Amino acid sequence: MNSRKVVSLIIFIGGFTLILFGGIYNPYSQPVSLAPGNYVAYSFHMKANETREFVFEYLDVFTIYIANETGYQAAMEDGNFTACYYTASGKYIAIKFTAPKDGDYYVLIANFNTKGDAEITFSYGRKEMENLIILGSLLSVLSLALLLLSIRRDKERPKYDSRCPYCGAPINSSWNYCPRCRYPLGGDRQ
Ligand SMILES: [Zn+2]
Repeated sequence: MNSRKVVSLIIFIGGFTLILFGGIYNPYSQPVSLAPGNYVAYSFHMKANETREFVFEYLDVFTIYIANETGYQAAMEDGNFTACYYTASGKYIAIKFTAPKDGDYYVLIANFNTKGDAEITFSYGRKEMENLIILGSLLSVLSLALLLLSIRRDKERPKYDSRCPYCGAPINSSWNYCPRCRYPLGGDRQ
């Protein structure tokens, strides 16, 4: 294997790893543990009209709020959740939330309904992981192009494996005559 092939293999492995990594961690799932009466907030920066999917699961009822900066501050300062964009209670909540404008949005998960601890699984798509998959795909395509180029170069390049015993020019042992001095090599006849 020549260096060009090694480089294309390394690029391919890199690209493939990125695709794998992006695929495994997207959507990203994380466990959220909440004592009764507690809530936790996750912030997401979103562009105007950008949609993100949030999925929440638990055996008991819990509550989800989505707020912008103002709504989040109101909830944190005086426990007033009415300024939130979105409120839902249930055991399984899947939300496709579209940001009305550019800014930070807060996903609040609350355990106001159960007397015990809530172990909620929170899953969401991650933009950076989607970007990893795109980058990985580009690298894989690039590595394939490099490999094809390398194979083509190999075919074009004559293979010297010996030297002419008369003039010392690089030759291939299957040749009949030295291309420089016409010395008979007799490659194929022997
Ligand atoms: Zn020669």
